[in-house]
Amino acid sequence: MILALSGGTGGAKMLDGLAQATGQENLTAVVNTGDDGDFYGLRVCPDLDICSYTLAGVVDDRGWGYADDTFRCLDGLATYGRPAWFGLGDRDLATHLHRTMRLAEGAALHEVTAEICSRLGVTARLLPMCNEDIRTEITTDEGLLTFQEYLIRDGARADITGIRFAGLQTSRPVPGALDAIAAAETIVIAPSSPVVSIGSILGVPGVRDAVAARRDRCIAVSPIIAGRPVEGPAHKFLAGAGYDDCSARQMAEIYADVAATFVLDTRDADEAPAIAELGVSPVTRDVLMPDRASRARLAGEVLDVLA
Ligand code: GDP
Repeated sequence: MILALSGGTGGAKMLDGLAQATGQENLTAVVNTGDDGDFYGLRVCPDLDICSYTLAGVVDDRGWGYADDTFRCLDGLATYGRPAWFGLGDRDLATHLHRTMRLAEGAALHEVTAEICSRLGVTARLLPMCNEDIRTEITTDEGLLTFQEYLIRDGARADITGIRFAGLQTSRPVPGALDAIAAAETIVIAPSSPVVSIGSILGVPGVRDAVAARRDRCIAVSPIIAGRPVEGPAHKFLAGAGYDDCSARQMAEIYADVAATFVLDTRDADEAPAIAELGVSPVTRDVLMPDRASRARLAGEVLDVLA
């Protein structure tokens, strides 16, 4: 079994590639829930939904949300003066309604996630990183914001002065997660945001140690190419977490205790010696995944490194 640690947009591309390379039945993913939020009383888990929709083949072309969705409900909420900046489509809302109702019935998030995956025809195993509610709080000069207020409502404009994962320290890995980490043939850290996606997964008590115990079988893929994230504001989160460098080498250093191998882009090949100095084996590949074929290609290459 191949195990991946994954956020949303970058992570789902890697999961799609791994699923193509190894088969969904052979794939387990531990997925970030630190981006989760509550909208109109509904529990929204953006990273889990991006991953399940992607593996189900129903994700929209823009990389999130349900394909060909409409936004009539959101338009109606705006009519009534409700904030409507978080793009919840009508079909997508069914997922959040269903999840919220199942949670209210007493189901745990990992059970609801398995049910949603099964109904969507996803045969990979998606595990939320924990069942507790984790809320990432972002501090900027403009004050304290939820993760989605900072990222979506405000377009990640302001510099970050503090990041806090409320609830993380007292959370527990979901049933099966530590066993999967221990049993995996290979662990792939997807090219997700190192601070807010992978950082929160590794921050669930017990997870970082469990992955570190498998360090020789763990390989991380860089989300940073030529000193910049491929997309999104990972550089702002890195700076906010106190890392002054936004580079492949910096990623390898953040993961040095958990991943003995690091895949950086061919354009960053000159950083390979500095990565080797960290005690991490650098592997140089094209890590851009603009389409499904390139996802399968990169996933195959990543798995081949530790074959
Ligand atoms: P989020 O939870 O939606 O923010 O998504 P993730 O944390 O999974 O992914 C965000 C990261 O994915 C960003 O830092 C991007 O640089 C990275 N990313 C997006 N597309 C690609 C790609 O094609 N290749 C690589 N290597 N990284 C990517």
